[in-house]
Amino acid sequence: MSRPASESTGPPRRVDTAERPFVLIWELTQACDLACEHCRADAHPDRHPDELSTAEAKTLLDQVREFGENQLVVFSGGDPLKRDDAVDLVQYGTDVGLNVTMTPSGTASLTPDAVHDLADAGLRRMAVSIDGATADSHDAFRGEPGSFEETIAAAEAARDAGLPLQINTTVCGQTVADLPAIADLVADLGAVLWSVFFLVPVGRGVTLDPISPERAERVMEWLVDGDWPFAVKTTEAPHYRRVVVQRGSDAGDGAASDGIGRRTGITAGDGFAFVSHVGEVYPSGFLPRSAGNVRRDSIVDVYRDADLFRSLRDPDALRGKCGACEFRHHCGGSRSRAFAYTGDPLESDPLCAYVPDRYDGPLPEQSFTEGDVSTAD
Ligand code: SF4
Repeated sequence: MSRPASESTGPPRRVDTAERPFVLIWELTQACDLACEHCRADAHPDRHPDELSTAEAKTLLDQVREFGENQLVVFSGGDPLKRDDAVDLVQYGTDVGLNVTMTPSGTASLTPDAVHDLADAGLRRMAVSIDGATADSHDAFRGEPGSFEETIAAAEAARDAGLPLQINTTVCGQTVADLPAIADLVADLGAVLWSVFFLVPVGRGVTLDPISPERAERVMEWLVDGDWPFAVKTTEAPHYRRVVVQRGSDAGDGAASDGIGRRTGITAGDGFAFVSHVGEVYPSGFLPRSAGNVRRDSIVDVYRDADLFRSLRDPDALRGKCGACEFRHHCGGSRSRAFAYTGDPLESDPLCAYVPDRYDGPLPEQSFTEGDVSTAD
C-alpha cells in the first residue's frame, strides 16, 4: 500500500515558522459531555462564562488570517460542538480564507446531520479520537458508554459527506497493546491521517501511565516501518523524526504533507500555537504557559515576538541532553513534556531513549508504569 498523495491546498510546505504557525489550535470551549481519562482540558459539562464571545471569536479569526492565506486552524475543545455558534464560526473562518478543521467529541450530538452541516460550512477535515479497538476499551477510556459507536457513526458520516477524516489516538500504558488493532480500524474507516499522541501528563492525563522511553522507541519504529494506507504523524513525540532518520525511512521527514499542508516537523511554539477558551496564548495546549491574551494582544505579534515563543524556536537554547544532541535541529524533543516534568520548557524530553555520544551529563527522569500490557509491535 502506498502513502496518500498530498494536495496543494494548504500553506506552502516551507513556511518560515518564525513568521507563522503551520497549525493554530483554538480551544472553543472546555465544555464536553465526556470524561476522558487523558483530558488535557480537564473538561466538564458546562461552558465557562468567560469564553470568547462570537464577536471576539470572529476578531480572533480575522487576526489569524493575517498570518497568511490558507492558515490552518483547528477548532478544538472540550467539545467545540457544545458552542451553538460552532458551525457559523467554521463558515466565517472559511469565508475569510482559513483552512478550518475540527476535533469534535464522540458524543450523541455528533450526528450525521451535524457532520454534514460542518462539511457544508467549509470544514476541511474532521478528527475524532479512538483510544481502544473495541467499544469496551474505548468507552472505558472515554468515560462514556456508547462513545465508540457514536464515534464510528460520525467517522462514517464524514466519509459520506466527502470530509477527510483524521483519527487521534493516545499512547499510554492503558492503550499501547491496542495500537495494532486500532491501526486496522483507522484503515477500515478510510482515514487520511492517524495522529498518534504520546501522553503528556497534564489535566486528567496525570492519572494515566506513561510508557517507558524504550517502549516508546519500539512503538515509533513500528510506526516508521509500517506500510500504512494513511499518513502517520506523532504528537508530542518529535523524536519520531530522529527514528525516521536513523532507520533511513522517507516517512514523516519533516516536510511531508498530510493533505491539508500540515508539515510534520513542528513543535510547541515553532510552527504550533494554541489559544485557550478564554483567549490565553500558549505554545501548545500541553504547555500551558501564557505569552499573551487575544483580548488585548495580537496573536500574530505574540507568536512572532514573545520571548517564550522565540526561545522555543532556538534549538541552541535547549538544555541537558537535548541541548547536546546532534538531532536537536530536526527533533528538539517535546517541550511540553519537558515543561510537565521539570517546569522548564527548554529542558530535556524524558520520553526519548537516545543519548548523544558526546553527552555525559544527567539524564532526565520520567516515572512510568509498564503495567501488564504487551508491546505494540
Ligand atoms: S535527545 Fe532530545 S533532541 Fe535528541 S533525539 Fe532525543 S528528544 Fe530529540
